[in-house]
Amino acid sequence: MKTIGVIGGMSWESSAEYYRLLNRHAKARLGGHHNARSLMLTVDFAPVEAHQRAGDWHALGEQMADAARQLERGGAALVLLATNTMHRVCEAIEAAITVPFLHIADPTGEALRAEGIERVGLLGTRYTMEQTFYAGRLRERFGLDTLIPDDAGRAHVHRIIYDELCHGVVEPRSRAIYCDVIDELRARGAQAVILGCTEITLLIKQEHSTLPVFDTTALHAQRAVDWAIEADHP
Ligand code: GLU
Repeated sequence: MKTIGVIGGMSWESSAEYYRLLNRHAKARLGGHHNARSLMLTVDFAPVEAHQRAGDWHALGEQMADAARQLERGGAALVLLATNTMHRVCEAIEAAITVPFLHIADPTGEALRAEGIERVGLLGTRYTMEQTFYAGRLRERFGLDTLIPDDAGRAHVHRIIYDELCHGVVEPRSRAIYCDVIDELRARGAQAVILGCTEITLLIKQEHSTLPVFDTTALHAQRAVDWAIEADHP
């Protein structure tokens, strides 16, 4: 099996989930005592979050590129970025490494298309919901129409990510807010919802949602393991 390199720490609560999912999926595929060969480089989230708020995506691109280079030097044959938001700077990462980079939106877009979905709700940080880097890729590569919550909904979804989920706090009250937002997206025509932030999986499972959920953390981790296994046995 090839070695998967993960740029983690944004936040570590979701990186821990990646670690679990990578190993669980490798075991599901290969059985026995198999787990995923992986390296994780955990960055310090405090300066990352401050740069996001300041809009300094250039500095963030350099930092992510450095992390990706370090993983490649350490033997990673594939690089993952364990956050949707930081895919805003994916070009800087791709330019820094010679091994493949697995964009988190791609396994998600493919899974949605495979289910025949055309209009999908997108939940994530404000950066992911409001900027074009994520919805644009889903439209260009997969022909998907994305719907985002209204102003108040986006504010709640964003605040709960940074003030609660990134600190490992999972509140039933916040789950109820997410469920209302999902219901509203459904009423506006969404056929499914993307959990487009790697911590949302801590709060929302399929049983909580009136729409089919597409969990970017799980889809990303699973695709990475499939790649790591199949790249060795094409
Ligand atoms: N993990 C989150 C995401 O998937 C948000 C934290 C961050 O800003 O990177 O977007």
